[in-house]
Amino acid sequence: SRTLAVRVTPVGRDLPGSAAVFHDVTELRRLEKVRKDFVANVSHELRTPITAIRGYAETLQGGALNDAQVAPRMVEIIHRQSERLSELVEDLLELSRLEAREMTFQRTEVPLALAVSRAAEGVRPKAEGKNQQIGLHIPPQLVALGDGRAIEQVLLNLLDNAVKYTPAGGRVDVDGAYEGGRCVVRVRDTGVGIEPKHLSRIFERFYRVDKGRSRDMGGTGLGLSIVKHLMGAMDGEVKVESQPNAGSTFVIFLPSAAGPTAATG
Ligand code: ADP
Repeated sequence: SRTLAVRVTPVGRDLPGSAAVFHDVTELRRLEKVRKDFVANVSHELRTPITAIRGYAETLQGGALNDAQVAPRMVEIIHRQSERLSELVEDLLELSRLEAREMTFQRTEVPLALAVSRAAEGVRPKAEGKNQQIGLHIPPQLVALGDGRAIEQVLLNLLDNAVKYTPAGGRVDVDGAYEGGRCVVRVRDTGVGIEPKHLSRIFERFYRVDKGRSRDMGGTGLGLSIVKHLMGAMDGEVKVESQPNAGSTFVIFLPSAAGPTAATG
């Protein structure tokens, strides 16, 4: 494995640079596998909606168009699948811009109460549809240093997941504080939770705990990897704590506009 290869240093005394080369080759192989898996995933994810769209369009052309019973339902599916396709393409483009470091990030003062309430507006219809309460508890003086748009995107992705993976009648709460000189925001839900063995992997591209179910729920499997990239680009961090069947808490850490001295609660 990778760590093993890195430790083969003594050989390097006779053959300068050999350990580094060994390491590079192992790392290259790993990256190659990651790339291949990614391409395979993208192809599969794109093919699914395309197949559905083409299939239903052809069925309509083949005569179903004149069937007032089934035609509207097929058009509805075509519409839904094309939305799914464009969501996927948007997420892929965002991710590739992030990985190519083509995005520029501002470093300005961002009042978190405002960012959180804006993001919450984006998920409110969905939450209301599921009879869920969203509680926002961000102190008005909590101000981060970062990119306002990126912070809103992060919060939106986390809130969207919280609503999505919480059954009807549940709750989502967002708290904020200064902790250890940083701004901390916690997005807490009372949802299905995540088993410990999946926790370290959910930030990977296309990783889903329950593939079939989360795809039906309309996710792309890219939301959390986008979150992780955005947070990294702002010198921030994202963590998760979760208990199966009890709920999950996603925690983001951002540099504080007040500086490291504002370590008070
Ligand atoms: P998706 O589009 O599938 O939601 P994400 O990258 O946003 O993709 O999340 C990856 C996976 O992590 C999800 O498929 C789901 O299994 C799990 N997950 C994310 N957020 C939550 C949450 N709040 N509660 C339970 N599981 C979650």
